[in-house]
Amino acid sequence: MSSGSPGDAGSPVRGDALVLFGASGDLAKKKLFPALQTMARGGRLPERVIGVGRSDFDDDALRAYARESVEEFGDGADEALDQVAERLTYLRGDYRSEELYTNLGQRLEGCEMPLIYLAIPPSLFADVTSGLAGCGVAGRGRVVLEKPFGRDLATAKELNAHVLSRFDEERVFRIDHFLGKEEVLDLLVFRFANTFLEPAWNRHHIASVQITMAEDFGVEGRGGFYEEVGTVRDVVQNHLLEILALVAMEPPVDAGARALRDEKIKVYRAMPALTPADVSRGQFVGYRDEDGVADDSDVETYVALRASIESWRWAGVPFYIRAGKKLPVTATEVLVEFKQPPQIFFGGEEHSPHPNHLRFRIKPGERVSISAQIKQPGDHLLSRAVDLSYDYDSHTEGEREDAYARLLDDALDGDQRLFARADAVEEAWRILDPILTDRPPAEPYHGGTWGPSGGLAPAGGWHDPDVT
Ligand code: NDP
Repeated sequence: MSSGSPGDAGSPVRGDALVLFGASGDLAKKKLFPALQTMARGGRLPERVIGVGRSDFDDDALRAYARESVEEFGDGADEALDQVAERLTYLRGDYRSEELYTNLGQRLEGCEMPLIYLAIPPSLFADVTSGLAGCGVAGRGRVVLEKPFGRDLATAKELNAHVLSRFDEERVFRIDHFLGKEEVLDLLVFRFANTFLEPAWNRHHIASVQITMAEDFGVEGRGGFYEEVGTVRDVVQNHLLEILALVAMEPPVDAGARALRDEKIKVYRAMPALTPADVSRGQFVGYRDEDGVADDSDVETYVALRASIESWRWAGVPFYIRAGKKLPVTATEVLVEFKQPPQIFFGGEEHSPHPNHLRFRIKPGERVSISAQIKQPGDHLLSRAVDLSYDYDSHTEGEREDAYARLLDDALDGDQRLFARADAVEEAWRILDPILTDRPPAEPYHGGTWGPSGGLAPAGGWHDPDVT
């Protein structure tokens, strides 16, 4: 991010090499090579880019893989891709062998601040960070760790302890690409660049908050992966708790990484751990027929939960989160419901006005809208709801930055604002940890519905995203 002060320790040194562990993998193909191309276009690519993997590639094979990647998932081959290719080399090796790290150390000779991106299965994070420490790279470089960071509180703590015994926290970048999305940053700006929100943004005026992340598709052939994860681990622990923190946090004292992350952690610390009564779980009918899924699987493909924040600002305001697959639409949004006016002059029992709400649609078609009451035309003094809205997409087409390009660039800059700190990751797991084991069973639901009937819901019901 280019505005505000990025760090808290002066101007950190910009990374002068990028090392991509897992260069032959799925994430590299779908997201990272297109991001490198974007960075090259902006003159932001380091001189040295080294792809590491165990596949039988050489430099040319990796360059061909990068080309396939941008042709399939990026903007197609162009001069920026040529720049990526010129800088790209391949280092093959076994992630558990010392030889790989000795070779890497040699390739990085002369580099002051390499950035090492671990786009590899999390089970390898500990081995690779140990190897990087062994060859001296940990002492002078930065490391990016992909999500998920741990499977629960205990494993997140263990991994943090391991990584932090090799890298200082200022050199660790726990990535959640969601945080690099323009739409999520828009939410942050909307909250803190508008004074009109502040007097009403609290328990006196807000009745509840609903955060929905709905997908109208299933697990798309990734049943084996999903069996190990489920909805809570896949999107709630990271993406949706990040959104909740942006909605609920206090204004940071400055725009630096420490201030921003301090405010998020305060939100999490004020949240009691969830109990089984705070959650309902579902599984779409047909999930058990997917490849890699157990016949008696209890893994959730839908979850709804009710969280609370025991702070001066939010005590008594329920925060509802729901996420799921095979729901009626694909949409992610935040809905903040305000309280009813204390007296209803313009309604009556039959025409009780709906409370105001602010809806922040993250996708698709990013939009912020405020539902307000205006007079109904006619003789009677009655109100009706109208939406005052702003569509970001129609105004900012072509100006949106790719999330991975932004985050890679930030990590090269040493700017940690959009990366999770060790304590926040652990706090997020603490909130969810009890319901990873002690929880209601996943009730079946049919694709195209909003999850199991009778599941947990706000008192006035969910506000379903309208994406027509
Ligand atoms: P892949 O399964 O494609 O593996 C990535 C790389 O890891 C491959 O290059 C592979 O090397 C290497 N690898 C896998 N297993 C081993 C092993 N046992 N020993 C040594 N190397 C191994 O993973 P993804 O690219 O899908 O994911 C990488 C990371 O990114 C994960 O942490 C994932 O959770 C995260 N992530 C992925 C997303 C995605 O869309 N794919 C989205 C968000 C996060 P080789 O091919 O050379 O054998």
